[in-house]
Amino acid sequence: MQDLTHYINGEHVTGTSGRFADVYNPATGEVQARVPLANAADLDTAVRAAVAAQPKWAATNPQRRARVMMRFVDLLNRDMDKLSEALSREHGKTLPDAAGDVQRGLEVVEYCIGAPQLLKGEFTDGAGPGIDMYSMRQPLGVSAGITPFNFPAMIPMWMFAPAIACGNAFILKPSERDPSVPLMLAELMEEAGLPKGILQVVNGDKEAVDAILDHEVIQSVGFVGSTPIAEYIYGRGCSNGKRVQCFGGAKNHMIIMPDADLDQAADALIGAGYGAAGERCMAISVAVPVGEETANKLIEKLKPRIDALKVGPYTAGRDVDYGPVVTAAAKANIMKLIESGVAQGAELVVDGRDFSLQGYEDGFFVGPHLFDHVTTDMDIYQKEIFGPVLSVVRASDYEEALGLAMDHEMGNGTAIFTRDGDAARDFASRVNVGMIGINVPIPVPLAYHTFGGWKKSVFGDLNQHGPDAFKFYTRTKTVTARWPSGIKDGAALNFKPMD
Ligand code: NAD
Repeated sequence: MQDLTHYINGEHVTGTSGRFADVYNPATGEVQARVPLANAADLDTAVRAAVAAQPKWAATNPQRRARVMMRFVDLLNRDMDKLSEALSREHGKTLPDAAGDVQRGLEVVEYCIGAPQLLKGEFTDGAGPGIDMYSMRQPLGVSAGITPFNFPAMIPMWMFAPAIACGNAFILKPSERDPSVPLMLAELMEEAGLPKGILQVVNGDKEAVDAILDHEVIQSVGFVGSTPIAEYIYGRGCSNGKRVQCFGGAKNHMIIMPDADLDQAADALIGAGYGAAGERCMAISVAVPVGEETANKLIEKLKPRIDALKVGPYTAGRDVDYGPVVTAAAKANIMKLIESGVAQGAELVVDGRDFSLQGYEDGFFVGPHLFDHVTTDMDIYQKEIFGPVLSVVRASDYEEALGLAMDHEMGNGTAIFTRDGDAARDFASRVNVGMIGINVPIPVPLAYHTFGGWKKSVFGDLNQHGPDAFKFYTRTKTVTARWPSGIKDGAALNFKPMD
């Protein structure tokens, strides 16, 4: 069994808390490593190292900072297989999916190579007589990020790449379920030329998170995870005077209009509903066919596709569509919600409750499930299941379908499948959700746009990556400069508007 560490000031250290968490191989159910859980003193050691290193990094010109990002991209590509394997081993997702996790983070790093351009301020020549006005974007100092288990490569990179490109030091507190890839990323950043202390990994649980939220030196906190924790972190971080952005859970609806290509819609639902065992914040967990005929045909098309899904360990390579869920506790929670769906009267059209995989009986595998006739009062509709479970809620018309997506408390992503431009346009314009797909089931914006939901899926204002990240990780300073002409104008003692 491997003993993992923190990564503080360029060193692998165990910390002083004496507390550890087990890290599982979800495919076998075995404990494969243990990770130290930091206390406030461990966090403080990292903050001190960050404070010592950050001013020099901030004073490094943005082009040189961008070059570190360039080399980091090369190293990510060099180590793609190694990173993917480590990721699959702790998370359980398939190797191609793990490579996608690294790739979607890498693309944000590529975007951050544009830091010299993105950090440029504004300039007004001649704001008044002899007066120029200009703004600068300056780093905050020390930033921290708290990330979820489901994208252990992508989400840390979404945070630390822009933070560091802007000249900050960054302390990452990754999920304690799959901490190996974040540690590998920190090592690669140093190999790319990042000075020690600028990117550190402090592993831990609530104790480490609370230490981050209460540490007066830390200027900003980014969080991605479940909604209750997002709300908690936002409240405590803000009340401690920090800049905080928190991204929470989801319940993404996909509306299928009667004119949609139903084969295309069914294929999309399989990928978006069951890919990564449903453990994606942009997974589609609710399908809303419009009209009885659409619903009946859709169910007919979904059933054989679901029956054909191959569930297995990542080591089985491309023969596997999705792997296990992350922990035994996650599996137990999913199974409990499935039972509640049956008890509350939903029709379990595809029942995966007996699923078992020979040779992997102790793994955290969950067979695929499909519920029909789900209603809005059921737990399986209201709660985020975060497993391979798709719920069909039948709507009689477009307005009812739109209303379902709008009335749900979560608002991360949503999609509409239709051939009608007018319906698609109306949907995109009216729905109160942050990311919209039109005939695209998982509308994750690319690196140069921004990512973020609405409603209870977010706490804070600016989105992740894209131009918003460069706003989140910098402060604006505005300078009004006058170079008096001396003998020409004389002294002006009055305070007056620019003329
Ligand atoms: P989680 O909320 O359990 O954990 C996220 C992070 O918070 C981890 O680092 C964890 O150590 C920490 N944490 C857990 N409990 C805490 C507590 N009581 N106090 C302080 N910190 C605590 O989430 P998860 O299970 O790792 O990830 C799945 C969730 O993340 C889902 O709800 C999913 O929708 C959401 N998610 C959202 C997005 C998005 O962009 N909106 C992206 C990915 C995942």
